[in-house]
Amino acid sequence: MRAANPPGLPRMVRRGKALGMAVAAALAGPSLGAQRAPVGPATRSYVAVDTTVLALINARVIDGTGAPPREGQTLIIRDGRITAIGATASGATAKGATATGRTGGVAVPAGAQVIDLAGKSVMPGLVMVHEHLYYPVGAGTYGNLTESFSRLYLAGGVTSMRTGGNMNGFAELLIAKAIARGEKPGPWIDATAPYLEGPGMGFNQVAITRDSVDARKLVEYWADQGATSFKAYMNISRAALQGAARAAHARGLKITGHLCSVTYREAADAGIDDLEHGFFAMNDFVPGKQPDSCSGRGGAAQSALAQADPESAEVQALFRYLIERKVAVTSTLTIFETFTPGRPMPPGTDVLIEPLRAQFAERYAATQRNPQSVYARAFPKGMAMERAFVKAGGTLIVGTDPTGGGGVIAGYSNQRALELLVEAGFSPLEAIRIGTLNGATYLGRGALTGSLVTGKLADIIVVNGNPATNITDIQNIQMVFRQGVGYDPAALIASVKGKVGLW
Ligand SMILES: [Zn+2]
Repeated sequence: MRAANPPGLPRMVRRGKALGMAVAAALAGPSLGAQRAPVGPATRSYVAVDTTVLALINARVIDGTGAPPREGQTLIIRDGRITAIGATASGATAKGATATGRTGGVAVPAGAQVIDLAGKSVMPGLVMVHEHLYYPVGAGTYGNLTESFSRLYLAGGVTSMRTGGNMNGFAELLIAKAIARGEKPGPWIDATAPYLEGPGMGFNQVAITRDSVDARKLVEYWADQGATSFKAYMNISRAALQGAARAAHARGLKITGHLCSVTYREAADAGIDDLEHGFFAMNDFVPGKQPDSCSGRGGAAQSALAQADPESAEVQALFRYLIERKVAVTSTLTIFETFTPGRPMPPGTDVLIEPLRAQFAERYAATQRNPQSVYARAFPKGMAMERAFVKAGGTLIVGTDPTGGGGVIAGYSNQRALELLVEAGFSPLEAIRIGTLNGATYLGRGALTGSLVTGKLADIIVVNGNPATNITDIQNIQMVFRQGVGYDPAALIASVKGKVGLW
């Protein structure tokens, strides 16, 4: 049974081989069609702007492609889509808009709501690809935070995201659909099926995928249920990974992995589309690595990473192997920062319920007491490897991974992820592109979102300041437009503050 079109998801957002044509048809015809996000009663209180025709004037545009910012720009948004971008016409004000473009700028349509963004920047909504709707609550268990985290992601500027593995069963699939219907606030979600994990780890929320038959059955079952993405985990075998990749690709879906038993090179051979955690989970250079066996539980992968030389022939050969097979790599520096001594306290922990806040505070203190941690060497090397991979021509995308011992908080960590890419040596504009257009392109949504271009969805964040020169300005997000609807980050955060961990 193959659903022709998953309920609740507009045709436009379907992925797979038919997508290109669907998008082209939707963008071309006069039936451009309303794409403004629906706003239901439970979502209304978080919405600051919801109108048919909107003009954002006097904005600095950071378009997500890596191009230099353009000052003094006007964006016209109609029914959820960007219909014009160009210089602000002289005389355009938030009070009385010019009805024509006689001064050569972009005409503000009569009746448009006008917002003056002088001193502010607009950039594409973030497209983040290693997100979770759960959080480690202790005792090897992950609490279902579909409600609070989806609000925090949106508040943090994330308008599209892939979950990087699912501990919630149906909950992630269902909230993705509820958000698409406007019943709940949140980003567009590429909902991942429950992890495909081999024997060994013993997660109490994950089934065991023993072989390629298991893998194919699980992929087909969850694809039927509406999962649009797959994630292999540390103890999967090469055969199971290959079976899963074939089954996913037959549906036009992609598969990524946080690997250990399978090396990056073997995963590329098995048909994987993406590798999670930069090069922190790379077992290719672990001494004595046995096939289909995860030896990395004791930090073997991180030790090998710490000793790797990004410019060495063997590492460069691995980069080329991945690049030739079109395997992307996902940077998740935010989670590794929490393992690394000497790093600042991560942002956003004050939204947690008190026991989780205390739990992470203890964990953070313990990390500082262990300056000999392998992460002291692996963290900067992981940054250097990601930089070198891109320099070699690799595709880097980015996510945050709110797992480990906690401290990675939805929304806040997405902004931190861009700061860490800049610390790794990318320019702010490169980091923004990795966190927007690169992610959208990987997800097959590059024609819809990820950059500020006429015709794309109005997935736009308004930032007070200029993150193109000072990436930390990304912390000052004033409004988040998803499909043309402007959400108020402060209202979203206030609705969950002190409750994150309960739901
Ligand atoms: Zn993860």
